[in-house]
Amino acid sequence: MMQTIGLYVHIPFCRAKCAYCDFNSYAGREALYTSYLAALRQETILVQGLLAEGEGARAAADRAPFPRAATLYVGGGTPTALPASDLAALVVEAREAFSLSDDAEVTVEANPGTVDRGGLRALLGSGVNRLSLGVQSFDDRLLRLLGRIHTAREARTAANDARQAGFENLSLDLMLGLPRQTMESWQESVWRALELGPGHLSLYALAVEEGTPLAARIEAGHLPPPDDDLAADMYEWAEDTLARAGYVHYEISNWALPGHACRHNLTYWRNEPYLGLGAGAHSWWNGRRWANHPAPEAYVASLQAGRPPEAEGEAIDRRLELGETMMMGLRLLEEGVSFARFQRRFGVPMDDVYAAETADLVERGLLERTTDRVRLTRRGHLLGNQVFVRFLGSDPAP
Ligand code: SF4
Repeated sequence: MMQTIGLYVHIPFCRAKCAYCDFNSYAGREALYTSYLAALRQETILVQGLLAEGEGARAAADRAPFPRAATLYVGGGTPTALPASDLAALVVEAREAFSLSDDAEVTVEANPGTVDRGGLRALLGSGVNRLSLGVQSFDDRLLRLLGRIHTAREARTAANDARQAGFENLSLDLMLGLPRQTMESWQESVWRALELGPGHLSLYALAVEEGTPLAARIEAGHLPPPDDDLAADMYEWAEDTLARAGYVHYEISNWALPGHACRHNLTYWRNEPYLGLGAGAHSWWNGRRWANHPAPEAYVASLQAGRPPEAEGEAIDRRLELGETMMMGLRLLEEGVSFARFQRRFGVPMDDVYAAETADLVERGLLERTTDRVRLTRRGHLLGNQVFVRFLGSDPAP
Protein backbone atom coordinates (compact mmCIF):
# COMPACT_ATOMS: atom_id res chain seq x y z
CA MET A 1 0.00 0.00 0.00
CA MET A 2 1.26 3.45 -0.83
CA GLN A 3 2.37 5.37 2.23
CA THR A 4 1.04 8.92 2.47
CA ILE A 5 2.17 11.80 4.62
CA GLY A 6 0.68 15.08 5.77
CA LEU A 7 2.69 18.11 4.70
CA TYR A 8 2.75 21.29 6.80
CA VAL A 9 4.30 24.63 5.83
CA HIS A 10 4.75 27.25 8.53
CA ILE A 11 4.58 30.97 7.75
CA PRO A 12 5.74 32.71 10.95
CA PHE A 13 4.67 36.24 10.00
CA CYS A 14 1.76 38.35 11.22
CA ARG A 15 0.74 41.95 10.59
CA ALA A 16 0.57 42.55 14.36
CA LYS A 17 0.98 40.32 17.38
CA CYS A 18 -2.31 39.51 19.14
CA ALA A 19 -2.40 40.15 22.90
CA TYR A 20 -2.87 36.48 23.85
CA CYS A 21 -0.56 34.87 21.32
CA ASP A 22 2.52 32.84 22.18
CA PHE A 23 2.64 30.97 18.85
CA ASN A 24 5.78 31.01 16.76
CA SER A 25 4.83 34.19 14.91
CA TYR A 26 6.43 37.61 14.44
CA ALA A 27 5.21 41.02 13.38
CA GLY A 28 7.38 43.53 11.51
CA ARG A 29 9.53 40.98 9.62
CA GLU A 30 8.44 41.99 6.09
CA ALA A 31 12.09 42.38 5.06
CA LEU A 32 12.55 38.65 5.63
CA TYR A 33 9.72 37.43 3.37
CA THR A 34 11.81 36.89 0.22
CA SER A 35 14.68 35.05 1.92
CA TYR A 36 12.20 32.99 3.96
CA LEU A 37 10.43 31.81 0.81
CA ALA A 38 13.81 30.97 -0.75
CA ALA A 39 14.71 29.01 2.40
CA LEU A 40 11.45 27.04 2.13
CA ARG A 41 12.46 26.04 -1.41
CA GLN A 42 15.86 24.93 -0.11
CA GLU A 43 14.29 22.90 2.64
CA THR A 44 11.90 21.28 0.15
CA ILE A 45 14.92 19.97 -1.78
CA LEU A 46 16.53 18.64 1.43
CA VAL A 47 13.33 16.92 2.51
CA GLN A 48 12.83 15.35 -0.91
CA GLY A 49 16.33 13.87 -0.56
CA LEU A 50 15.42 12.55 2.87
CA LEU A 51 12.26 10.90 1.57
CA ALA A 52 14.15 9.31 -1.31
CA GLU A 53 16.77 7.98 1.13
CA GLY A 54 14.19 6.54 3.51
CA GLU A 55 12.25 5.02 0.67
CA GLY A 56 15.40 3.42 -0.73
CA ALA A 57 15.69 1.40 2.48
CA ARG A 58 11.96 0.74 2.57
CA ALA A 59 11.83 -0.34 -1.08
CA ALA A 60 14.55 -2.88 -0.43
CA ALA A 61 12.42 -4.28 2.40
CA ASP A 62 8.89 -4.26 1.04
CA ARG A 63 8.93 -2.41 -2.29
CA ALA A 64 6.65 0.35 -1.04
CA PRO A 65 6.55 3.26 -3.49
CA PHE A 66 7.67 6.84 -2.78
CA PRO A 67 5.30 8.49 -0.26
CA ARG A 68 2.96 11.20 -1.50
CA ALA A 69 1.42 14.00 0.50
CA ALA A 70 -2.31 13.39 0.97
CA THR A 71 -2.79 16.78 2.61
CA LEU A 72 -1.07 20.16 2.58
CA TYR A 73 -1.67 22.65 5.37
CA VAL A 74 -0.17 26.14 5.23
CA GLY A 75 -0.43 27.59 8.73
CA GLY A 76 1.09 30.24 10.91
CA GLY A 77 1.39 32.91 11.94
CA THR A 78 -0.64 34.34 9.13
CA PRO A 79 0.08 32.80 5.71
CA THR A 80 -2.11 35.47 4.13
CA ALA A 81 0.25 38.15 5.47
CA LEU A 82 2.41 37.20 2.46
CA PRO A 83 1.59 38.78 -0.90
CA ALA A 84 -1.14 36.62 -2.46
CA SER A 85 0.94 35.83 -5.56
CA ASP A 86 3.83 34.54 -3.38
CA LEU A 87 1.51 32.41 -1.29
CA ALA A 88 -0.17 30.97 -4.39
CA ALA A 89 3.23 30.17 -5.93
CA LEU A 90 4.32 28.45 -2.71
CA VAL A 91 1.22 26.23 -2.79
CA VAL A 92 1.79 25.30 -6.44
CA GLU A 93 5.45 24.44 -5.76
CA ALA A 94 4.64 22.35 -2.68
CA ARG A 95 1.91 20.46 -4.55
CA GLU A 96 4.34 19.59 -7.33
CA ALA A 97 7.30 18.77 -5.09
CA PHE A 98 5.31 16.33 -2.94
CA SER A 99 3.10 14.85 -5.71
CA LEU A 100 -0.18 15.92 -4.17
CA SER A 101 -3.06 14.13 -5.81
CA ASP A 102 -5.92 16.12 -7.35
CA ASP A 103 -8.23 15.16 -4.49
CA ALA A 104 -5.72 16.15 -1.78
CA GLU A 105 -6.95 18.47 0.95
CA VAL A 106 -5.10 21.78 0.65
CA THR A 107 -5.74 24.21 3.52
CA VAL A 108 -4.53 27.75 4.05
CA GLU A 109 -5.06 29.62 7.32
CA ALA A 110 -6.20 33.19 6.82
CA ASN A 111 -6.69 36.20 9.03
CA PRO A 112 -9.80 38.14 7.97
CA GLY A 113 -7.78 41.37 8.09
CA THR A 114 -5.40 40.15 5.37
CA VAL A 115 -7.59 38.84 2.55
CA ASP A 116 -9.41 40.32 -0.41
CA ARG A 117 -11.33 38.81 -3.31
CA GLY A 118 -8.39 38.94 -5.73
CA GLY A 119 -6.08 37.19 -3.28
CA LEU A 120 -8.68 34.56 -2.48
CA ARG A 121 -9.20 33.83 -6.18
CA ALA A 122 -5.42 33.46 -6.60
CA LEU A 123 -5.35 30.95 -3.73
CA LEU A 124 -8.19 28.95 -5.21
CA GLY A 125 -6.41 28.95 -8.57
CA SER A 126 -3.27 27.55 -6.96
CA GLY A 127 -5.19 24.50 -5.73
CA VAL A 128 -6.19 25.58 -2.21
CA ASN A 129 -9.56 23.94 -1.53
CA ARG A 130 -10.04 24.66 2.17
CA LEU A 131 -9.81 28.03 3.91
CA SER A 132 -9.47 28.28 7.67
CA LEU A 133 -10.48 31.74 8.86
CA GLY A 134 -9.37 32.94 12.29
CA VAL A 135 -12.51 34.83 13.29
CA GLN A 136 -12.23 34.28 17.10
CA SER A 137 -15.35 36.34 17.93
CA PHE A 138 -18.11 38.37 16.35
CA ASP A 139 -17.96 40.82 19.26
CA ASP A 140 -15.85 43.87 18.34
CA ARG A 141 -15.25 44.67 21.99
CA LEU A 142 -13.58 41.28 22.49
CA LEU A 143 -11.70 41.48 19.19
CA ARG A 144 -10.13 44.74 20.40
CA LEU A 145 -9.32 43.19 23.77
CA LEU A 146 -7.57 40.31 21.98
CA GLY A 147 -5.62 42.72 19.78
CA ARG A 148 -7.03 41.24 16.56
CA ILE A 149 -6.47 43.37 13.45
CA HIS A 150 -10.01 42.90 12.10
CA THR A 151 -13.58 43.67 13.06
CA ALA A 152 -16.57 41.33 13.12
CA ARG A 153 -17.85 42.93 9.93
CA GLU A 154 -14.49 42.30 8.20
CA ALA A 155 -14.62 38.66 9.29
CA ARG A 156 -18.09 38.31 7.76
CA THR A 157 -16.92 40.02 4.57
CA ALA A 158 -13.88 37.72 4.35
CA ALA A 159 -16.08 34.63 4.71
CA ASN A 160 -18.53 35.91 2.08
CA ASP A 161 -15.68 36.85 -0.25
CA ALA A 162 -14.25 33.36 0.15
CA ARG A 163 -17.61 31.89 -0.84
CA GLN A 164 -17.88 34.20 -3.85
CA ALA A 165 -14.34 33.32 -4.90
CA GLY A 166 -15.47 29.68 -4.96
CA PHE A 167 -14.35 28.20 -1.62
CA GLU A 168 -16.90 25.57 -0.68
CA ASN A 169 -14.91 24.24 2.24
CA LEU A 170 -14.69 26.89 4.92
CA SER A 171 -13.54 26.47 8.53
CA LEU A 172 -13.99 29.14 11.19
CA ASP A 173 -12.11 29.47 14.50
CA LEU A 174 -13.84 30.93 17.56
CA MET A 175 -12.51 31.46 21.10
CA LEU A 176 -14.36 30.95 24.37
CA GLY A 177 -13.56 31.69 27.99
CA LEU A 178 -12.33 35.22 27.23
CA PRO A 179 -12.13 37.90 29.92
CA ARG A 180 -15.37 39.93 29.86
CA GLN A 181 -17.01 37.45 27.45
CA THR A 182 -20.59 36.80 28.48
CA MET A 183 -22.68 33.77 27.60
CA GLU A 184 -24.83 36.02 25.41
CA SER A 185 -21.81 37.27 23.49
CA TRP A 186 -20.58 33.70 22.99
CA GLN A 187 -23.95 32.47 21.78
CA GLU A 188 -24.18 35.41 19.39
CA SER A 189 -20.74 34.54 17.95
CA VAL A 190 -21.69 30.90 17.41
CA TRP A 191 -24.98 31.91 15.73
CA ARG A 192 -23.18 34.42 13.48
CA ALA A 193 -20.64 31.74 12.55
CA LEU A 194 -23.39 29.24 11.71
CA GLU A 195 -25.09 31.80 9.46
CA LEU A 196 -21.98 31.69 7.28
CA GLY A 197 -22.51 27.96 6.71
CA PRO A 198 -19.01 26.65 7.52
CA GLY A 199 -18.33 22.96 6.97
CA HIS A 200 -16.00 23.01 9.97
CA LEU A 201 -15.70 24.89 13.27
CA SER A 202 -12.81 24.98 15.74
CA LEU A 203 -13.72 26.28 19.20
CA TYR A 204 -10.75 26.98 21.44
CA ALA A 205 -10.79 27.89 25.11
CA LEU A 206 -8.42 30.76 25.86
CA ALA A 207 -5.20 29.70 27.55
CA VAL A 208 -3.56 32.67 29.26
CA GLU A 209 0.10 32.25 28.33
CA GLU A 210 2.79 33.69 30.54
CA GLY A 211 4.66 36.60 29.02
CA THR A 212 1.83 37.77 26.78
CA PRO A 213 0.35 41.28 27.09
CA LEU A 214 -2.99 39.70 28.01
CA ALA A 215 -1.42 37.82 30.93
CA ALA A 216 0.22 41.06 32.11
CA ARG A 217 -3.13 42.89 32.06
CA ILE A 218 -4.77 40.11 34.03
CA GLU A 219 -1.91 39.99 36.54
CA ALA A 220 -2.08 43.76 36.96
CA GLY A 221 -5.79 43.47 37.71
CA HIS A 222 -6.83 45.43 34.62
CA LEU A 223 -8.77 42.45 33.28
CA PRO A 224 -10.57 39.64 35.09
CA PRO A 225 -9.06 36.16 34.73
CA PRO A 226 -11.02 33.71 32.58
CA ASP A 227 -13.95 32.11 34.40
CA ASP A 228 -13.44 28.34 34.01
CA ASP A 229 -17.00 27.46 35.02
CA LEU A 230 -18.45 29.88 32.51
CA ALA A 231 -16.07 28.56 29.84
CA ALA A 232 -17.28 25.01 30.56
CA ASP A 233 -20.91 26.19 30.22
CA MET A 234 -20.05 27.86 26.90
CA TYR A 235 -18.46 24.66 25.65
CA GLU A 236 -21.44 22.52 26.66
CA TRP A 237 -23.89 24.97 25.11
CA ALA A 238 -21.90 24.87 21.86
CA GLU A 239 -21.81 21.07 21.94
CA ASP A 240 -25.62 20.89 22.11
CA THR A 241 -26.19 23.69 19.62
CA LEU A 242 -23.78 22.33 17.03
CA ALA A 243 -25.13 18.81 17.38
CA ARG A 244 -28.61 20.16 16.64
CA ALA A 245 -27.18 21.97 13.61
CA GLY A 246 -25.78 18.68 12.26
CA TYR A 247 -22.12 19.06 13.25
CA VAL A 248 -20.17 16.05 14.48
CA HIS A 249 -17.89 16.66 17.47
CA TYR A 250 -14.95 14.60 16.20
CA GLU A 251 -12.10 16.07 18.27
CA ILE A 252 -11.98 17.94 21.58
CA SER A 253 -12.00 21.38 19.92
CA ASN A 254 -13.32 20.52 16.47
CA TRP A 255 -16.74 20.02 14.89
CA ALA A 256 -17.53 19.22 11.27
CA LEU A 257 -20.45 18.55 9.01
CA PRO A 258 -20.28 14.98 7.70
CA GLY A 259 -17.37 14.66 5.27
CA HIS A 260 -15.71 17.90 6.42
CA ALA A 261 -13.40 16.73 9.22
CA CYS A 262 -9.92 18.17 8.69
CA ARG A 263 -7.95 15.33 7.08
CA HIS A 264 -4.64 17.02 7.78
CA ASN A 265 -5.20 17.39 11.50
CA LEU A 266 -6.47 13.82 11.68
CA THR A 267 -2.98 12.82 10.55
CA TYR A 268 -1.57 14.33 13.77
CA TRP A 269 -4.28 12.99 16.02
CA ARG A 270 -3.92 9.50 14.59
CA ASN A 271 -0.15 9.77 15.08
CA GLU A 272 0.49 9.20 11.38
CA PRO A 273 3.61 10.53 9.61
CA TYR A 274 3.92 14.18 8.68
CA LEU A 275 6.60 16.53 7.46
CA GLY A 276 6.82 20.17 8.45
CA LEU A 277 8.67 22.83 6.51
CA GLY A 278 9.52 26.26 7.89
CA ALA A 279 10.58 27.90 11.14
CA GLY A 280 9.67 25.82 14.18
CA ALA A 281 7.89 23.18 12.07
CA HIS A 282 7.76 19.64 13.45
CA SER A 283 8.16 16.40 11.53
CA TRP A 284 7.54 12.76 12.35
CA TRP A 285 8.70 10.28 9.81
CA ASN A 286 10.60 7.04 9.48
CA GLY A 287 11.14 6.47 13.21
CA ARG A 288 12.25 10.03 14.01
CA ARG A 289 10.64 13.18 15.29
CA TRP A 290 12.36 16.53 14.87
CA ALA A 291 11.74 20.28 15.05
CA ASN A 292 13.24 23.17 13.11
CA HIS A 293 14.76 26.33 14.55
CA PRO A 294 11.81 28.44 15.72
CA ALA A 295 13.28 31.85 14.92
CA PRO A 296 12.83 32.63 11.21
CA GLU A 297 16.27 34.33 11.07
CA ALA A 298 18.01 31.19 12.39
CA TYR A 299 15.97 29.01 10.05
CA VAL A 300 16.92 31.11 7.02
CA ALA A 301 20.60 31.35 8.06
CA SER A 302 20.85 27.60 8.43
CA LEU A 303 19.49 26.92 4.96
CA GLN A 304 21.56 29.71 3.42
CA ALA A 305 24.61 27.92 4.83
CA GLY A 306 23.40 24.68 3.23
CA ARG A 307 22.58 23.03 6.58
CA PRO A 308 19.28 21.32 7.52
CA PRO A 309 17.37 23.67 9.83
CA GLU A 310 16.80 21.00 12.48
CA ALA A 311 17.14 22.28 16.06
CA GLU A 312 16.32 19.07 17.93
CA GLY A 313 15.26 15.53 17.22
CA GLU A 314 14.69 12.13 18.79
CA ALA A 315 14.31 8.55 17.66
CA ILE A 316 10.87 7.04 18.24
CA ASP A 317 10.96 3.30 18.77
CA ARG A 318 8.07 1.00 17.94
CA ARG A 319 7.00 0.67 21.56
CA LEU A 320 6.59 4.42 21.92
CA GLU A 321 4.89 4.75 18.53
CA LEU A 322 2.32 2.10 19.47
CA GLY A 323 1.65 3.65 22.89
CA GLU A 324 1.37 7.19 21.55
CA THR A 325 -1.00 6.07 18.80
CA MET A 326 -3.30 4.59 21.43
CA MET A 327 -3.01 7.58 23.74
CA MET A 328 -3.64 10.24 21.10
CA GLY A 329 -6.49 8.40 19.43
CA LEU A 330 -8.24 7.79 22.74
CA ARG A 331 -7.58 11.20 24.27
CA LEU A 332 -8.40 13.37 21.27
CA LEU A 333 -10.70 11.58 18.90
CA GLU A 334 -14.34 10.69 19.27
CA GLU A 335 -13.69 7.75 16.92
CA GLY A 336 -11.06 6.33 19.32
CA VAL A 337 -8.68 3.82 17.71
CA SER A 338 -9.96 1.54 14.97
CA PHE A 339 -8.85 -2.12 14.90
CA ALA A 340 -8.53 -2.12 11.10
CA ARG A 341 -6.47 1.07 11.00
CA PHE A 342 -4.21 -0.24 13.77
CA GLN A 343 -3.59 -3.50 11.92
CA ARG A 344 -2.95 -1.74 8.59
CA ARG A 345 -0.48 0.56 10.26
CA PHE A 346 1.43 -1.88 12.46
CA GLY A 347 0.91 -5.19 10.67
CA VAL A 348 -0.55 -6.92 13.77
CA PRO A 349 -4.03 -6.99 15.33
CA MET A 350 -4.44 -4.68 18.34
CA ASP A 351 -5.28 -7.70 20.49
CA ASP A 352 -1.88 -9.26 19.77
CA VAL A 353 -0.34 -6.21 21.43
CA TYR A 354 -2.81 -4.82 23.95
CA ALA A 355 -5.31 -7.61 24.78
CA ALA A 356 -4.57 -7.50 28.53
CA GLU A 357 -4.62 -3.72 28.77
CA THR A 358 -7.88 -3.25 26.87
CA ALA A 359 -9.65 -6.11 28.73
CA ASP A 360 -8.67 -4.61 32.08
CA LEU A 361 -9.69 -1.07 31.12
CA VAL A 362 -13.04 -2.29 29.75
CA GLU A 363 -13.58 -4.19 33.00
CA ARG A 364 -12.91 -1.00 34.98
CA GLY A 365 -15.40 0.95 32.87
CA LEU A 366 -12.79 3.27 31.38
CA LEU A 367 -12.75 1.89 27.86
CA GLU A 368 -15.56 0.87 25.53
CA ARG A 369 -15.00 -1.88 22.99
CA THR A 370 -17.24 -2.10 19.89
CA THR A 371 -16.97 -4.45 16.92
CA ASP A 372 -14.51 -2.19 15.12
CA ARG A 373 -12.78 0.07 17.68
CA VAL A 374 -11.95 1.04 21.24
CA ARG A 375 -12.69 4.45 22.72
CA LEU A 376 -12.92 6.14 26.09
CA THR A 377 -16.11 5.96 28.12
CA ARG A 378 -17.34 9.09 29.90
CA ARG A 379 -15.55 7.89 33.02
CA GLY A 380 -12.45 7.20 30.91
CA HIS A 381 -12.45 10.83 29.75
CA LEU A 382 -12.42 11.96 33.37
CA LEU A 383 -9.71 9.50 34.39
CA GLY A 384 -7.73 9.58 31.14
CA ASN A 385 -4.32 9.38 32.80
CA GLN A 386 -5.15 5.96 34.26
CA VAL A 387 -5.83 4.78 30.72
CA PHE A 388 -2.85 6.35 28.98
CA VAL A 389 -0.31 5.07 31.48
CA ARG A 390 -1.36 1.51 30.61
CA PHE A 391 -0.43 2.04 26.96
CA LEU A 392 2.62 4.23 27.42
CA GLY A 393 3.95 2.18 30.31
CA SER A 394 3.32 -1.32 28.92
CA ASP A 395 5.77 -3.39 26.98
CA PRO A 396 3.97 -4.57 23.84
CA ALA A 397 4.94 -7.57 21.79
CA PRO A 398 7.17 -6.61 18.83
S1 SF4 B 1 -2.84 36.21 13.95
FE1 SF4 B 1 -2.65 34.22 15.00
S2 SF4 B 1 -0.47 33.73 14.96
FE2 SF4 B 1 -0.67 35.91 14.45
S3 SF4 B 1 -0.37 36.96 16.37
FE3 SF4 B 1 -2.59 36.66 16.13
S4 SF4 B 1 -3.04 34.70 17.15
FE4 SF4 B 1 -0.82 34.83 16.86
